[in-house]
Amino acid sequence: MAVRVRIAPSPTGYLHVGTARTALYNYLFARKNNGKFILRIEDTDVERSSKEMTDIIIEGLKWLKLDYDEGPFFQSDYFSHYIDHIERLQKTGGIYRCFCTPEELEERKRKAISEKRAWKYDRKCLNLSQEEIEKNLKENKPFVWRVFIPEGKTGFNDLIHGLIEKDNSEIEDFIIIRSDKTPVYNFAVVIDDYRMGITHVIRGDDHISNTFKQLHIYRLLGVKPPEFAHLPLILDEKRAKLSKRSGTVSVLSFKDMGILPEAFINFIGLIGWSPGDNREILSLQEMIKLFSFDKVAKKGGVFDYKKLEWMNSKYITNSTNEKLYELLVPFYLKENIDLKEYPKEKILKIIESVKEKARYLKDFPFLTQFFFKDIENYDKKGIEKYFTSEKIGYLKDLTKKIQNIKDFNSFEIEKVYKEYIDEKNIKGADVIHPTRLALSGRTEGPSLFLMMEIFGKEESVRRLTRIFEFDIFTKQNDGGIV
Ligand code: GLU
Repeated sequence: MAVRVRIAPSPTGYLHVGTARTALYNYLFARKNNGKFILRIEDTDVERSSKEMTDIIIEGLKWLKLDYDEGPFFQSDYFSHYIDHIERLQKTGGIYRCFCTPEELEERKRKAISEKRAWKYDRKCLNLSQEEIEKNLKENKPFVWRVFIPEGKTGFNDLIHGLIEKDNSEIEDFIIIRSDKTPVYNFAVVIDDYRMGITHVIRGDDHISNTFKQLHIYRLLGVKPPEFAHLPLILDEKRAKLSKRSGTVSVLSFKDMGILPEAFINFIGLIGWSPGDNREILSLQEMIKLFSFDKVAKKGGVFDYKKLEWMNSKYITNSTNEKLYELLVPFYLKENIDLKEYPKEKILKIIESVKEKARYLKDFPFLTQFFFKDIENYDKKGIEKYFTSEKIGYLKDLTKKIQNIKDFNSFEIEKVYKEYIDEKNIKGADVIHPTRLALSGRTEGPSLFLMMEIFGKEESVRRLTRIFEFDIFTKQNDGGIV
């Protein structure tokens, strides 16, 4: 039987990290088994669903390259379809009309609670006579359809948790069609999974209680339910369910921060699943090969932001400069720097010079800002430490020497510096740090000689010479030149 799985997000909010991970596991399972991965937008809650959220969900899946084979299908396109199935279920005698109003239900529920009785629907409408039903219908009394839950047990063999069972006394006669004729999630989901030939339902643990209900609809339809795999929840560092309160949870905001999609996939893939060894860096292709439900954890996994940061920096370091260039254009534009206005060769070197230091793509403009703009602030502590008269003296000598370099590349520049250090019998740090401060205004940054090569001779000399005009520091106020 060909595997068919689906991701079924409700477009009532942004694409949540948890939904992305559910999508990933569905995708891995489908690809591993040469099956189909389907996108279904569950928008039956018309009030809370929006086209904007649907677009954001699709954009997020595209960003993560979780390509779906079919869809997007929209539940709202099938409203009449769900109603059509009511007739079929009605014939089984397993569903009934309930005319209780929300106010009546609320009243009875309140009474039960005040009498310390557990509340579930009290079946007031289960045994209405045919005449009563006819009368209510004639009076146009609104009604919902409920499923009758018989005595016994409901259970299923979950692919992750094994056998899960519940006594039917704990399951309410739940609603499947609202009084406005729209289907409730539990009903729409079963009809759709059945209609689309879904073979495996892979979704969050929080749906286990829904699965018990959904099994009763399959029973009434007389069809074999799909296999179920309920994934452990993603937790925050306090081991609470990951939510907005825990930090960023919307997938596209990770894109905006400059997380690489491959890093994000790798990271979420390993929350709650592991290939069985200690490998941390896995490509999507490797995950497809290694994925299996028996390696999915039963308990929730923690979303560790620090680990994501670490993983992303690894992916950045391992990316080609060309690839980073394309990805970085919008990040620089946000800082009013248009990379396309500069020679590409130069930008590729700039990227190379800092890529091991960047944790996010958004770090690049800051780390390389001085390549594009004149320095406005020299690090204050650096000034005290590195612009002493002695060291300024060294810089004056070196500025003269580097002007004679013919081929101004990092290798040649380094040679000149080395010779000077030996000649003067000083430490490398005595000239390297002051030069870096003069060129970038900072005490830390890319490798100095590569940085000088990127600036070129003229600009390097200009920035060094600027330091010799001492009054620029007297004008520097609070670390800034005024
Ligand atoms: N629309 C449901 C959700 O977003 C889908 C659950 C399911 O996969 O059945 O949680």
